[in-house]
Amino acid sequence: MLPLVNTLSNFEAIFMALPSIVFQLKVVKNNISFLLINQAVETELELKPISILENPSCFFNLLSESDQDNFRTSIINSSRTLTNWQWEGCFNLPNGKKMWLQGVATHNQVNGDATIFNGILHNVTTYKYADEMLAETGKLTKTGAWELDLATMTPYWSEEVYKIHELDPAIRPDLENALSFYLPEGREIIKEAIAKSMSTGEPWDFELPFITAKGKAIWVRSSGKAKFKNGTTTKLYGVFQDITDRKLAEENLRVIFEFSPDAHLLVGAKGILDCNNAAVNLYGCQSKEELLSFHPAIFSPDCQPDGIYSDVKAKEMDRVAYEKGFHQFEWQHKRLNGELFFVLVTLSLVKINHEQVLLAVLHEITAQKKAEEMIRRNEAMLSETQELTHSGSWESDLVTGKNYWSAEAFRIFGIEPETDGPSTETFGKMIHPDDKELYINEVKQLITTAQVSNFDLRIVLPNGTMKVINAIGKPYLNEKGEVTKIYGAIVDITGRKNAEQELIKAKEQAEQATLAKSQFLSTMSHEIRTPMNAVIGFTNLLLQKNPSPEQLEYLNVLKFSGDNLLVLINDILDFSKIEEGKIEFEMADFSVEDLVNNVRQALLHRANEKGLKLKLIIDKDVADAVVGDQVRLGQILTNLINNAIKFTSKGKVTISAVLESRDHQNTVIDFEIADTGIGIAKDKITSVFERFTQASSDTTRKFGGTGLGLAITKKLIELQGGSIHVESEPGVGSAFKFRLTFKNGSNDLIKNKPRLVQPVSRSLKGVKVLMAEDNEINVMLIKQFMKLWEIEYDIVSNGLEAIAKVQANDYDMIFMDLQMPEMDGYEAASAIRNLDGEKFKLIPIIALTASAMLDIKDKAFEAGMNDYISKPFNPDDLHQKIENYSAAQLHGKREAY
Ligand code: ADP
Repeated sequence: MLPLVNTLSNFEAIFMALPSIVFQLKVVKNNISFLLINQAVETELELKPISILENPSCFFNLLSESDQDNFRTSIINSSRTLTNWQWEGCFNLPNGKKMWLQGVATHNQVNGDATIFNGILHNVTTYKYADEMLAETGKLTKTGAWELDLATMTPYWSEEVYKIHELDPAIRPDLENALSFYLPEGREIIKEAIAKSMSTGEPWDFELPFITAKGKAIWVRSSGKAKFKNGTTTKLYGVFQDITDRKLAEENLRVIFEFSPDAHLLVGAKGILDCNNAAVNLYGCQSKEELLSFHPAIFSPDCQPDGIYSDVKAKEMDRVAYEKGFHQFEWQHKRLNGELFFVLVTLSLVKINHEQVLLAVLHEITAQKKAEEMIRRNEAMLSETQELTHSGSWESDLVTGKNYWSAEAFRIFGIEPETDGPSTETFGKMIHPDDKELYINEVKQLITTAQVSNFDLRIVLPNGTMKVINAIGKPYLNEKGEVTKIYGAIVDITGRKNAEQELIKAKEQAEQATLAKSQFLSTMSHEIRTPMNAVIGFTNLLLQKNPSPEQLEYLNVLKFSGDNLLVLINDILDFSKIEEGKIEFEMADFSVEDLVNNVRQALLHRANEKGLKLKLIIDKDVADAVVGDQVRLGQILTNLINNAIKFTSKGKVTISAVLESRDHQNTVIDFEIADTGIGIAKDKITSVFERFTQASSDTTRKFGGTGLGLAITKKLIELQGGSIHVESEPGVGSAFKFRLTFKNGSNDLIKNKPRLVQPVSRSLKGVKVLMAEDNEINVMLIKQFMKLWEIEYDIVSNGLEAIAKVQANDYDMIFMDLQMPEMDGYEAASAIRNLDGEKFKLIPIIALTASAMLDIKDKAFEAGMNDYISKPFNPDDLHQKIENYSAAQLHGKREAY
């Protein structure tokens, strides 16, 4: 080397000034040393040439370990094989920069073991960066480059092209191979494009489906061109890109756009630019083309529901969207067939091809609008109803502790309506202190039993007024069956409660008034009966004392008036008892046949007086015992027969009792009282059963009566479960028919009862009677009759005396007044029954009472009395009672002896 330097000393300056690093190095076995190196090394690597010559490791240390190895092994290899050296490596400079140098050297000399290399190191940093950038960009955009030398048919594929194909870079595919990755259809397209480009030079650019070497389906963009030289194609080259991601995104967008149930429209200045299928369907068009052919205005009615013209309003909506970039509003649209519908429109400002257009998304809300309208209407109706009925609804969430109340619920409680109901605590404070426990218990029970609860509660309003509410609570159960909510209704029942209170008060007052009335009537009757006793009694007595014809006439008038007055008093008393609901029916065994016979017998003389026949038609089956109240049945029959006799002047009155049916439990008997009397006019048929009603205005004058008898009769029948009706023809007669159902009785019981026999004579000589009566007039009257009937009698004026007398004498019967001083009739009767001796148990005791009250009769029976006779007594009745009981007594005595 030295001779060269020496010889070409001028070149030293050139050598040193060369911009590339020029060097000479020597390789001895594995040892490398620099012999020469020019100044450029300092510019490029910031190393002085002398430093490298003295110590080559300062050069190598700038390289990475692999680059160092590469440098060493490649140059040692070249020295061994005596081939040219090629190398590329990256130096890390002390200033932090990277420097790529590409080296080439030729082996010049071999001196023994040493090989000398002359070479040059180029700075390729710029290319390197460009390469790297290209590779990076290729990676990022999944784009690669390819080339096909048509002369040698050698392909060149960049790394990215291999990657997209998922092919091993060692493989060099020919054109046919390369095309086989496309689907058959795409393959043909590319082939055709290549052929065309090779003849015309025209480039191609396609997006095609593609299958990679590993079978993955992707999309690629293939573009390319043929290169010409001197009129012939020398190579094909182009770009290859994996566009799967973009394609997928586009596909997704397309699917979203096409299959969205909401209508999508792109609207530009010239009208509708594009739309999806949903839009076509929404407007009722046949196709997209048809829709696009219309101006958007055709799809709106002239005016919107607010009365503004659609075109004016649409412009305003567009303006807002253009200004703000986004606008949402409700719109009424019109389908092609004219049908109107509501949509929620969302306008978004978008840019397509540098032009600003509006993307309109239409969501149909017709059903929602209808539902909203229905909810609104229902809510309004509910609130109206709640206001009108003063009822509110509420819900209490036991989990969150929140309460919800309807507006009316707030109003009932006198508080301003809010969204939420008042807290449970506030609500609790409004409950009347006395009702708090009830409220708590009801809620507890509702939660534990999960049953509906319904109760009345008093509340105190903030202004102090008290109200009564009816609260109904219903549990709401979760899937575990736990009560998590309670909901229900409250009704303001203050008005109703007040009215109830008023009614109760009124009822109590009315009851008191009725009680006062009946007490008054009872007293009155007693007070009237005593003087009546005297009037009727003495009239009867006078009638028996051979009066003169004139006296007889007056006495008859007096008797008629007296009797009438007595009936009136009894009727009024009975009726007021019935009205009070205090009437009770005795349940004892009796024979209907016997009873009907007795009633007939008692009334026979009346019929005889008027020259009427009193006929009896009786089923023998009705002789069997039934259970019921014979006194009341007797009253009914007496009433009807009395009326029949009263309103008949000639002919007959027929009493019939016919067995309608009998089973093992009940006996049903049809009764009928028919007469041949004056009859009843058709229009009066129903009203005769009303109280104080008579068939004609002159009835009282002609026949007496009060118009109460039938009303009482009807009530008595109905209270025993029966019914009465009348068939009548004026001038021909009337027939009163009623049916009663009795429980079957025991025939043994009635057989043992004293049988009533018909009176045979007016004289009752031989009978011994004790009369207990304190009223002097009555005593006087009784005495007269006793004498008349030749009865042996004793009279005492109180119970104590009666007991004494009964023990000292042997009487056939005792007549016992109920109200007496010292000891009253009840006490005396039970005392007699308690005396030692069989006869005291058997002796008939007949009550004498001025009251027709049923309870008095019952009390008398309870005290051990057998019968009763009302004062003022009818002499015939008294006579009959004495006769009957004396006969029975005789019969009993006989049996006893
Ligand atoms: P009173 O007989 O005291 O007037 P009632 O209630 O017994 O009251 O009868 C009401 C009316 O019905 C009688 O006034 C009479 O006009 C009519 N009436 C009742 N029974 C008969 C009958 N058998 N024949 C004709 N009219 C009768």
